[in-house]
Amino acid sequence: MAQSFGNIIRAGIATVPLTEFEIIERFFAAPGPQRSDVCLGIGDDAAIMQVPAGHDLVSCVDMLVRGQHFPEDMVAEDVGYRAMAVNLSDMAAMGAEPAWATLALSLPEPDESWLARFAEGLIGLAREHGVALVGGDTVKGPLVASVQMAGLVPSGTALRRDGAQPGDRLFVTGAPGEAAAGLALWQRGLRVPQGPAARLLRRFNRPQPRVAQGIDLRGIASACIDVSDGLAADLGHLVQASGIGAVIELESLPVSDELAEVADPMQARRYVLSGGDDYELCFAVPVRGLLDFERRARDWACAVTEIGEICDSPGLFARVCGEIEPLEEGGFDHFR
Ligand code: ADP
Ligand code: MG
Repeated sequence: MAQSFGNIIRAGIATVPLTEFEIIERFFAAPGPQRSDVCLGIGDDAAIMQVPAGHDLVSCVDMLVRGQHFPEDMVAEDVGYRAMAVNLSDMAAMGAEPAWATLALSLPEPDESWLARFAEGLIGLAREHGVALVGGDTVKGPLVASVQMAGLVPSGTALRRDGAQPGDRLFVTGAPGEAAAGLALWQRGLRVPQGPAARLLRRFNRPQPRVAQGIDLRGIASACIDVSDGLAADLGHLVQASGIGAVIELESLPVSDELAEVADPMQARRYVLSGGDDYELCFAVPVRGLLDFERRARDWACAVTEIGEICDSPGLFARVCGEIEPLEEGGFDHFR
């Protein structure tokens, strides 16, 4: 809907009202990557894209509300980056190649410098992944950024949560828990971090969606999910969808040096299991596919760790010192 923002914003010394159309024109219409499969992009009532034959369209949307999904004082570039990143991560979890995005943006006031930096974060990451911004909606309201994304997979090859089988091995990319540790540092007021804190905070502010890894896992992983709510919680969704359970080897959980520097061993493992905002991939690989998987994962730009296996009994279990017990009941406390 076309609308004028009632507010007056400051541009240098002069004050000018910025309309919705000027916002779109100035910050979102031009700068993204161009794709030959976009027949009609920003400017009409809807966008038109060509879906290649033999492919499935994969679609997702995520909504980021200020104060709810990102800190009130998160810098604009990081908000833009995150809005794109969380959707890229959903594409990664499906093994899809991200292609097109739309942006629904609710803004309290059309702050030009905020918008320029937001667009830089958002479109910068879109460019890295070859995603074209093909439309959106811009309204006045509380700060909410919602990106909707569509991607492609060869028909029938998308990764899902519901294919894991008992005996499959479980893996996780990267270093889950670091983002939550970084957020905790931010919440304690750390703004110009150095050393390990800088890396942790960056992991919260600039999560790396594992798009290439997701694509590589097509035909290999039996089930896959991205870790946004915490490893245990998201693995819980995967096992529930697959109608099976999982045993996590607590001693195999990856604890990065940076995490170990800011948290004691018990706290660190808690971060790994229940911290959120990691946007890593957690997936199951059938034993027959392990060699193929290892060959592909050798070229990955991120670490990958085997953390356990799929079992018959529904639920999540932890193995520590040879003992298996339900994760909820005691597993979390067996970090000694
Ligand atoms: P309509 O009223 O038909 O919904 P709008 O006036 O809302 O159209 O938007 C005009 C054009 O600008 C549309 O092509 C829309 O997709 C695009 N657009 C609006 N807001 C954004 C945004 N934040 N980012 C990218 N494109 C946008
Ligand atoms: Mg219209």
